[in-house]
Amino acid sequence: MRFTADLHIHSRFSRATSRDLNLDQLWRWAQLKGIRVVGTGDCTHPGWLAELEQELVPAENGLLRLRREPPDGQVPDSCRAPVSFLLSGEISCIYRKGGRTRKVHCLVLLPDFEAAHRLNLALSRVGTLASDGRPILKLDAKDLLAMVLQASPRALLVPAHAWTPHFSIFGACSGFESLQECFEELAPEVHAIETGLSSDPAMNWRLSVLDGITLISNSDAHSASKLGREATLFDAELCYQGIYQAIVGGKGVAGTIEFFPEQGKYHADGHRCCGVRLSPEQTIAHGYRCPTCGGKLTVGVLHRVELLADRAAGARPEQAPPFWSVIPLIDLIGGALRVGSSSKKAETLYFELLERLGNEFHILLDASLNEIAARSTATLAAGIGRMRAGEVEIEPGYDGKFGTVSVSASEEDTT
Ligand SMILES: [Zn+2]
Ligand SMILES: [Zn+2]
Repeated sequence: MRFTADLHIHSRFSRATSRDLNLDQLWRWAQLKGIRVVGTGDCTHPGWLAELEQELVPAENGLLRLRREPPDGQVPDSCRAPVSFLLSGEISCIYRKGGRTRKVHCLVLLPDFEAAHRLNLALSRVGTLASDGRPILKLDAKDLLAMVLQASPRALLVPAHAWTPHFSIFGACSGFESLQECFEELAPEVHAIETGLSSDPAMNWRLSVLDGITLISNSDAHSASKLGREATLFDAELCYQGIYQAIVGGKGVAGTIEFFPEQGKYHADGHRCCGVRLSPEQTIAHGYRCPTCGGKLTVGVLHRVELLADRAAGARPEQAPPFWSVIPLIDLIGGALRVGSSSKKAETLYFELLERLGNEFHILLDASLNEIAARSTATLAAGIGRMRAGEVEIEPGYDGKFGTVSVSASEEDTT
């Protein structure tokens, strides 16, 4: 069956996350967004894991569901759907290898609580797990992979947001040039990477070494409303094993829902405090130094992909599934109404639209533009049409600053 999953999120036990990240809110927002399977996040945190064991019960084999669903009314009828949880967490590995400091974030997917306890016991011998839902450990990513597989042979380790400069496997600042350089003889046990907000599958298709690697996308949400800003569409059996096999073999991944990569906050190169954004060519021309202050430029994802790619832009491997680039609905509404995305007016129309039309993915990807126009405004419908066609205006993000991607309203749509 086809279903959407968002397997990398965080709980309120992670640093810099929203206090609303509890299971009820994850359950609610998964439905509002159109997500069938949501990662629990932070399964290495003892407090969150205890809460998960308390509040979740077995659902489809290896997946979990809420023991007590909140009362109706929290989710409009148009969006109500079952939600299953999958045990997941993220670990920040900081260590030295090959004479350099390495910082690699890894997503972990686990089939059951027993595996989570086994992994946590092993990790607790390395460092403290209770101070951050995404623990920072002095641990080689390869050793982490060995521990994950020891916790369960059906567990998966997926390098997270694989291209971001500071904390990823291929990142310009502290990453590696290949999966083999990082994981050595265990590299064949890595079956997937998470492309992250600042890269999309098309950028990853430029590396022939990634042809056998499944590309997945997740939100890495730090607040419940950011759930599903990226997600993976599976065509697999709805259970842990189905998702596992889909990722391992690649065939059960039917596509991904993506940010426009320019919207990610590390797409281009630059120096944020000077307001300097550069293309890879410009960075090279400036000798990797900020033209304003002379400081070191942060090399972004596009640049890093260019460096490691062995194919020209536009190349597409035969087996590659499709992807859909979207702009969060709340941002489209904010643009169409000419108010901020966080304004009350935008929020009100957002919830009205979900109530009338269905979940956010349905509105962004499938709903007819006529219907959207009838239920909101012609401007918003036209904007969604332009987004689907890729007709967007882009200001790329760089050095930690989100980019902007918008669909401009032309005169004739304004009613
Ligand atoms: Zn991370
Ligand atoms: Zn500067």
